[in-house]
Amino acid sequence: MTATVEKHVFQAEVNEVLSLVVNSLYSHREVFLRELISNAADAIDQLNFRSLTEHALLGDDKELRIELIRDDKAGTLTIRDNGVGMTRDEMIGNLGTIARSGSKKLMQSLSAEQKKDITLIGQFGVGFYSAFLVADSVTVTSRKAGSDEAWQWTSQAKGDFEVQKAERAGRGTDVILHLKDDAKEYLNEWPVREVVGKYSDFVRWPIRMEVERSGGDEKKLEWTTLNQARALWTRAKGDVTDEQHREFYKALAHDWTDPLAWTHFKVEGTHELTGLLYVPGKAPFDLVEKRKSGVKLFVKRVFIMDDAQEIVPEWLRFVKGVVDSEDLPLNVSREILQKDATTRFIKKQVVGKVLSLLEELAAEGETEREVDGEKQKVDRFLQFWGEFGRLLKEGVYHDVDARDRLSKLLRFRSTKDDGLHGFAAYVARMPADQKAIYYVAADSLATAKASPHIEALKKRSYEVLLLTDAIDEWIVDALRQFDDKPFVSAAKGALDLPESDEQKQAKEAKQKELAPLTERMQKALAEQVKSVRVTDRLTDSPACLVNDEHGMSARQERVLRDAGHDVPTQKRILELNADHAVVKRLQGLADETAFADWSALLYDQALVAEGTLPADPAAFARRLTALMSKA
Ligand code: ADP
Repeated sequence: MTATVEKHVFQAEVNEVLSLVVNSLYSHREVFLRELISNAADAIDQLNFRSLTEHALLGDDKELRIELIRDDKAGTLTIRDNGVGMTRDEMIGNLGTIARSGSKKLMQSLSAEQKKDITLIGQFGVGFYSAFLVADSVTVTSRKAGSDEAWQWTSQAKGDFEVQKAERAGRGTDVILHLKDDAKEYLNEWPVREVVGKYSDFVRWPIRMEVERSGGDEKKLEWTTLNQARALWTRAKGDVTDEQHREFYKALAHDWTDPLAWTHFKVEGTHELTGLLYVPGKAPFDLVEKRKSGVKLFVKRVFIMDDAQEIVPEWLRFVKGVVDSEDLPLNVSREILQKDATTRFIKKQVVGKVLSLLEELAAEGETEREVDGEKQKVDRFLQFWGEFGRLLKEGVYHDVDARDRLSKLLRFRSTKDDGLHGFAAYVARMPADQKAIYYVAADSLATAKASPHIEALKKRSYEVLLLTDAIDEWIVDALRQFDDKPFVSAAKGALDLPESDEQKQAKEAKQKELAPLTERMQKALAEQVKSVRVTDRLTDSPACLVNDEHGMSARQERVLRDAGHDVPTQKRILELNADHAVVKRLQGLADETAFADWSALLYDQALVAEGTLPADPAAFARRLTALMSKA
């Protein structure tokens, strides 16, 4: 009886990833072994976890291990595990598609140049496909734990793969690499040993290989374990080298770039746990939408689950690593985790350790470090901020307990210079008479900087924070103050700038003088504005629009509306610069039609100055043209 061979074509993205992997990662091809061993270790972890409740699953095959089998004659290197295995459908699903949503979109958006950038390619989680770096043909034979059926998957990476029934003695997976001519070195003991030592020493399961042992004249083959087979996090802090951390991280996170920083900790006392947490060097392309955490939960060295959301708050989803608890039961499930008090304790520790790490990075400032073998001046915190700052803002908003410490880590642009500034440094620079932390929000840095709302603040040499992220205004609203200094929007309420008695009297006199004008304009713009008043915000512009102190800003309304919320538009207050020539001209303008036109124009230009299109752009243009033709 001949087995039926089914032919399947790869998902289009797989073809692209495959050709990228093979073409771009050639000089890093030794990592294939790290990737395949890491998959094998994961499969054993899963089996080990399931066997906690399904005792029969292990059967007679109790010694969990990975084996590397070199076959000179066949020219193959096999990575064998007795892990959980795959069913036929799982093989087709796992080895013929790319699971990460959005990878297709990303792939299409990459330029030819970017496609050579291995850090970008690494984001696809190339894992298994790296087999084709060294093999022109790959055969995977697998038998799922608990099943007596084995299946075989074969591909030459030419657009398709074949699946057929197969024989396999026990559960687990063989990945058989038919080595390319120029990769035959991996049939020898030492190249394999070297790569395992470099990339996979930390793997928790023994990686075994038959090696030649010369005893007398006879050469004998003997199984030996190539790795320490001890979880990295259980080793003493001082015993783990930077190099080991980097390789462990890369295997764990399926990343190609070095981690930026890490923290390795042990908590002892009523609860005991060990953790090894990494901050990646680069954000994944789907950082914002992706909700999965990157932390694996272990209990007493037994792998329990990936993506342990219960022990890591969502805003820390950039963190990769492991947490190993001594207190949780081995049969812990997500449901138990959600209720268990230990979970809260662990989560608190995780948050605390990551915050301490980030605080250290922030305090470190610019230092000389080795990056890709070269000494460079780097500010790791600013690098972190560029990649993940967005998530700290989420943290400030959602995590009230962490808010205080997080607020010290936030960085913003300001009118001071082009750098990024924290609140503490801002407050330290405040002139003696400045009472608040001022900010202005706009869609772009240029618009924020040029905002009329900050004219008077700039004139007084008050620094103004320039907030350009949609979430920023909610952050300062949530914080309300920093170091007892309130956050004050340059475009809301009254600025309450310190003033002498003389200035105060002069202002009141102006208000009185302009009262007829503001009343008249309020009538002319009754549809658009809530009120019209004289301002002390402006020095150069004739007018600006402001909100009530406690209301949402126009930008916040717009952000919500863009996100699909039904938000009514609040009318705003039009503020006039009493000293501006235009305002003075308006005072003397008797013609009602002309007055109405000018008022509308003044209102619309205030919108334009903050980056908003007037409600009726055509009318705006018409009025402007009419005015220009009179000039
Ligand atoms: P990733 O490991 O990032 O998910 P891979 O391409 O390396 O991506 O592997 C895809 C999937 O194939 C894995 O998630 C796993 O489900 C399955 N797989 C790969 N190797 C093995 C193996 N040795 N045993 C069982 N399943 C495996």
